[in-house]
Amino acid sequence: MITPFLILCAGAIGLKWLAQIWLEWLNQRHVRRHAGEVPPAFANTITPENYAKSVAYTLAKSRFDMIELTWGAIVLAGVLFSGFLPWFRHTFQHAAGSSIWADAGCLVAAGALLSALDLPFEWHEQFHLEERFGFNTTTAATWWLDRVKGLLLALALGYPVLVLILKLVGWLGAGWWFWAWVCVALIQLALMVVAPVLILPLFNKFTPLEPGELRDGLLALGRRAGFRARDIQVMDGSKRSRHSNAFFTGLGRFRKIVLFDTLLRQLDRGELESVLAHEIGHYKKGHIPKTIALSLGGGLLGFYILSVLARQPWFLGGFGFAPGEMAPALLLFALLAGVVTFWLSPLFHGMSRRHEYEADAFAAGLLQQRQPLISALRKLNEQNLSNLTPHPLYSGFYYSHPTLLEREAALGAVEAPEAPEAKMEDGG
Ligand SMILES: [Zn+2]
Repeated sequence: MITPFLILCAGAIGLKWLAQIWLEWLNQRHVRRHAGEVPPAFANTITPENYAKSVAYTLAKSRFDMIELTWGAIVLAGVLFSGFLPWFRHTFQHAAGSSIWADAGCLVAAGALLSALDLPFEWHEQFHLEERFGFNTTTAATWWLDRVKGLLLALALGYPVLVLILKLVGWLGAGWWFWAWVCVALIQLALMVVAPVLILPLFNKFTPLEPGELRDGLLALGRRAGFRARDIQVMDGSKRSRHSNAFFTGLGRFRKIVLFDTLLRQLDRGELESVLAHEIGHYKKGHIPKTIALSLGGGLLGFYILSVLARQPWFLGGFGFAPGEMAPALLLFALLAGVVTFWLSPLFHGMSRRHEYEADAFAAGLLQQRQPLISALRKLNEQNLSNLTPHPLYSGFYYSHPTLLEREAALGAVEAPEAPEAKMEDGG
């Protein structure tokens, strides 16, 4: 039966799809308009060949995204409105019973099935798109092994959590959502602490940066910033891709600064120091607790909304489920949350971009110069074929980092004394 709520859901899915396709189209047009010549700010630093390549890469990725977004919307609408979900649950219950253990299993199975529908796209992206632009280094064996490991991890972590949530509903009644949030938040925090030592090594090899000038320099920089690090880890990012990166992970004693091996090959010592200074900036400016607090707050709100929705007959009934059933409510909530959170992404990405500016400014202050960071950012953008001219609305929605041009402009405004070497030269 078609209810106003179902029409609202269909409208929300359609509206999100339209907005995403429009953003891709807007961005493609913007990039094509600037494709003729290297943006003046980078005329001397980026070769016309590499610029043309970055334009081609951006356009190819965007065209692929349009197809993938459309497929995602079709699958979501198909799954929600065809009666597939009640049928799937019924079939699953027929085979496994209707205990909480079976219900949680049904949710995991539905999740696995839905992500399997994305596999052809992930495959194409890695072995055709990334391959064409020279980024792919993954073998088919690694790719499949990653998927299997991901599935096992989702089972090992997700299944017990789902059982716990469903049990809490039975034990606590109306107030379940708060305690479910407390449990999930504690598990999330525990995972953040142990992920660097227990989960990340399942996918990549981490080795301490070898002793030498580079390591000494980086550790000395850490000490100067009041950031005690026992070592710097190098991750074999080259196992999957030529893209390069650096990140900060873990909490407390298990925190790690990780540099991709690809990054070590692309940057010189001064540039690597500036990257480390930037990562320390995130730590010193308290970005990690802020991000965690935001995510926990979002989780609390999510559980509350879920508890309210689960009580509404039109929510479950609209999709063909009996009222008051928590497992289907969880599934529907997970499927539909994205059509709402999408509209909040400019807010979250705006905060993330503000953090990047703060970390850049911190790095410039710590190093007493901005040139190494600017040069590192330029190299990274060129090597990764980053889009130098995204449409502002597109970057507003999707970019967790400001563009190269924006970062350079912001660094130019930072009050950091220029390099001591340069001053000595000036003085003769
Ligand atoms: Zn950063």
